[in-house]
Amino acid sequence: MSTRYPALIDTFGRVASDLRISLTDRCQLRCTYCMPAEGLAWIPRPELLGDDEIVRLGRIFVESGVASVRLTGGEPTIYPGLPEVIGRLSALSPRPEISLTTNGIALARTAPALVTAGLDRINVSLDTLVRSRFAALTRRDRLADVLDGLATAQAAGLAPIKINSVLNRDVNLDEVPELLAWALEQGYQLRFIEHMPLDADHSWSRDDMVTAEEMLELVQAHFEVRPLGHGGAHGQAPAEEFEVLDGPGAADWASRPGRLGIIASVTRPFCRECDRLRLTADGQLRTCLFAQQETDLRGPLRAGAGDDELAAIIRTAVRGKQAGHEINSLDFVQPARSMSAIGG
Ligand code: SAM
Ligand code: SF4
Repeated sequence: MSTRYPALIDTFGRVASDLRISLTDRCQLRCTYCMPAEGLAWIPRPELLGDDEIVRLGRIFVESGVASVRLTGGEPTIYPGLPEVIGRLSALSPRPEISLTTNGIALARTAPALVTAGLDRINVSLDTLVRSRFAALTRRDRLADVLDGLATAQAAGLAPIKINSVLNRDVNLDEVPELLAWALEQGYQLRFIEHMPLDADHSWSRDDMVTAEEMLELVQAHFEVRPLGHGGAHGQAPAEEFEVLDGPGAADWASRPGRLGIIASVTRPFCRECDRLRLTADGQLRTCLFAQQETDLRGPLRAGAGDDELAAIIRTAVRGKQAGHEINSLDFVQPARSMSAIGG
C-alpha cells in the first residue's frame, strides 16, 4: 500500500520502519542497571506528550512508512491512556503492528484490555526467577506480579511472548540454564541482552559486561542450538536467533523446538541494518539509542505545524542518521539521557 509521505530513508540507504514510542520516563521499579534507588529527575509533566500528540505523530510516522510501533518507557503500563493510545494507533491506515515492552507487573490487571484495544505482541523484562534476587535487582519485591502478568498475557492470546534478560556477571549469569529451560517450558522466547552503557549512574564497564560470545558458550554447555541468523525469518531484528533443539528440563524437544535470541548491541552491533527510530516521552526524535542529537517534534507540534511540515522535519532528521554507534571507539560518549528516559 502506498503511503501519504515518502519513505524515511537515510544516506546509507536504510529505511526506517520501526518506531519506539516512550510513553513516560517514570517506573515503579528501580533496576540497578537502569535507575538509581531514588529514581531520576523526571521530565516535567507539561513537557510530556499527551494522547492526541502521540497519536498524531504516530500517524505521521505510519504515513511515512513505519510499519511497527512499540510502546515503551520508563514503564508504559503506568501511562493512564495506554489502552486508548493502542486503540487509536491500531486504527491507523495502513495498520501498524503494535507491541509493548514492559516490566510485566501490571499485566495481570491490564493484559486483556490491551489485547482488546489492539495490542499484538509483548516483550516482558525479567532477569531472574529467584525472588530475593529480583527484589535486590529491581529494588522491589514484585517477582510474583511479573509471573502472574505473564500468565495473564499468555491466556489473553499474546504470542509469541518474548522475555528480555540483561545478563550481569555478579547478579544472574549463573541462572542462564534455568532461565532458558523455564522460558522454553512456558512457551516464551527468551532473549539475553548485553548490558549497554546507558545506566543512569554511568557505572557500565566493558570489563564486567557479559558478552554474546560468553552467553552462547554458557547456553551451549547445556543446550543444543542451531543458529538462524539475525531476526530469524524476518532478518531485520537486532537479535541473533537460535533454534533450541535439545536440553534439560521437561520440554518435549522433538515436537516443540524453542527459540532463543541474543542481542549483542555492544560486541556485535547491528547498525548497518538498523530500521529503528525512537520518540521520547517529551517529543524528541532519536535516530539511534546512542545518538548525541535529538530532533524536537514537540515544539513545532505545539506551535501549530501542519502534518506536511512535521513529516518534513522527521524526514530530514532520518536522512541525518549516523552510520552506527561509537560504543567500540575511544571517542564514545554516553548519551545524556539514560535508557529509561530514551525508551528502550
Ligand atoms: N520498563 C520496561 C521494561 O523494563 O521492559 C520498558 C523500558 S526498559 C528501559 C526496556 C528494556 O531496556 C528492558 O528490557 C531493560 O532490561 C533494558 N535495559 C535497561 N537498561 C539497560 C542497559 N543499561 N543495558 C541493556 N538493557 C537495558
Ligand atoms: Fe523500570 Fe524498565 Fe528501567 Fe527496570 S528497566 S527500572 S522496569 S524502566
